[in-house]
Amino acid sequence: MIRLEQVTFRYEDMRMVFDAVFPRGSFTAIIGPSGGGKSTLLNLIAGFEAPDSGRVLIAGQDISGLPPDQRPVSFIFQDNNVFAHLDIWQNVAIGVAPSLKLDTAQRSRVDAALQEVGLAALVRRKPGEISGGERQRVAIARALVRHKPVLLLDEPFAALGPALRRDMLDLVKAMQQSRGLTVLMVSHQPEDAEYAATHTGFLEAGRIVALKPTAELLASTELPGLDAYLGGWRSTGR
Ligand code: ADP
Ligand code: MG
Repeated sequence: MIRLEQVTFRYEDMRMVFDAVFPRGSFTAIIGPSGGGKSTLLNLIAGFEAPDSGRVLIAGQDISGLPPDQRPVSFIFQDNNVFAHLDIWQNVAIGVAPSLKLDTAQRSRVDAALQEVGLAALVRRKPGEISGGERQRVAIARALVRHKPVLLLDEPFAALGPALRRDMLDLVKAMQQSRGLTVLMVSHQPEDAEYAATHTGFLEAGRIVALKPTAELLASTELPGLDAYLGGWRSTGR
């Protein structure tokens, strides 16, 4: 479970306050207008940003003071998840051991993760020699081998077409279910939330203004900001 207790963060004249609970094993999508603070929310959980006040707890432990690499969290960004000079196998192995010195069991874990995401045949390629979708599979495989209970994704598949996005969401969902991960995924596509997320939060102006089961959130009519954000999507998008 991820718990944010009155986590505040100020950037110039924008003040964000996050107070929310994401149950263990849930898959929550975060949607909302650009500049609202979606990436900042994930960065506060991952430790890339430090709150001005408040606490972040994972599984009951206050992790507010821990550096990112000591938090029980994996992170997948929209891009720049891979190291161009390392091959695909090494890009996953670095999730286990930054030194790239792996024992036999760890090497098997890397092989199994690459198999699971469908990249077993491409392990000796460099990131520049595979597609954008395949690069995101590398990021997913690296998250798999890290064995962390929380997975954060920031618009991970925004650059991919609809069919490929669904394949990637299927992969993340399968991984979430088999490992019991708690997943938080920022997306600009309400259909991604609808397809993959049990819960969806609407975040605007530095606040999660609603957090509900996905179908209920996407159908709510009492939030003017959500109406404006979704526009005609609700009536014409499906
Ligand atoms: P979103 O991901 O919803 O588009 P962000 O979390 O990226 O929103 O940004 C929220 C606001 O905070 C923006 O106005 C952004 O410019 C600002 N902001 C937050 N942290 C930083 C930072 N470290 N550097 C620059 N701007 C930041
Ligand atoms: Mg963002």
